[in-house]
Amino acid sequence: LAENKPISVAVAGARGKMGREALRALEMDKRFQVAGVLVRNRHDDVDDTYPAFDDAQALLSTLQPDVWLDLTDANSVVRHVDLALSHGVRTVVGATGYTDEDLARWTAICEENQLGAVVAPNFAIGALLMIRFAEEASKFFESVEIIELHHDGKRDAPSGTAKRTAKAIAQARQGAHSDVEAESRNLTPETVADASRGQALHGIHVHSVRLPGLVAHQEVIFGGTGEVLTIRHDSLSRASFMPGVLTACERVMNLRSLVYGLEHLLF
Ligand code: NAP
Repeated sequence: LAENKPISVAVAGARGKMGREALRALEMDKRFQVAGVLVRNRHDDVDDTYPAFDDAQALLSTLQPDVWLDLTDANSVVRHVDLALSHGVRTVVGATGYTDEDLARWTAICEENQLGAVVAPNFAIGALLMIRFAEEASKFFESVEIIELHHDGKRDAPSGTAKRTAKAIAQARQGAHSDVEAESRNLTPETVADASRGQALHGIHVHSVRLPGLVAHQEVIFGGTGEVLTIRHDSLSRASFMPGVLTACERVMNLRSLVYGLEHLLF
């Protein structure tokens, strides 16, 4: 890229809550220009500030953006990311609801084509620190549960952040508590008799709350002998995600592989 040339970003899901916030953030930052937007039905779009498409394939072929920023939802994100990567377009994935298999496939495609991608279950710096502190605490506490709380419009559960947290804790405590690991091996969803105990991810119970009024919140609760440690993060507005969105859109330009978790670019 020529020096000083802004990075062109296509925003998928531009009429959603995250999409609108991202458009505002990109507009205000001279490092970027919005190449175009993917919306549900472009003919309904009264705002013609940017080229609007309702077909991802058409947008990618026509605009050839530097970055595909996906802020759609669990129903669309996988198809979009497959498509963007097949067009050789660097991709920042903010939407959640993809599987470990999707992630593995995208990682392989990026590796093979030396293509940059950032898959970020959470863009908020406080949430990334929460995961980091939870990793540290998990070396000292044998028992932990996660409660994630989101607005009632969220389509996937458990949240991408809860999945990321559970995986990070499981990795951090490998070898730290042999008795807990033995217990974890027996803790599959089938053996959790009571459904109200939540879903077991990597042997960690995860509880999902969906209510109007909430934005994105999570508690990681560690239980020890006569003490409890709670690490809590609250995103009070979607503005909390925007510095991370912009960092991902900039840093993806220099990547040659897929990075899962924005923390790997920050810490
Ligand atoms: P939202 O308000 O429902 O926005 C999603 C938007 O994407 C909607 O406007 C939806 O249109 C649109 N969309 C979905 N599929 C589409 C398609 N195929 N073509 C065109 N538009 C499509 O949800 P949100 O709160 O903005 O969240 C968006 C995603 O980001 C969710 O997956 C959420 O979990 C995730 N999220 C991630 C972070 C993070 O830090 N990584 C933070 C917050 C949220 P319709 O309404 O017509 O379906």
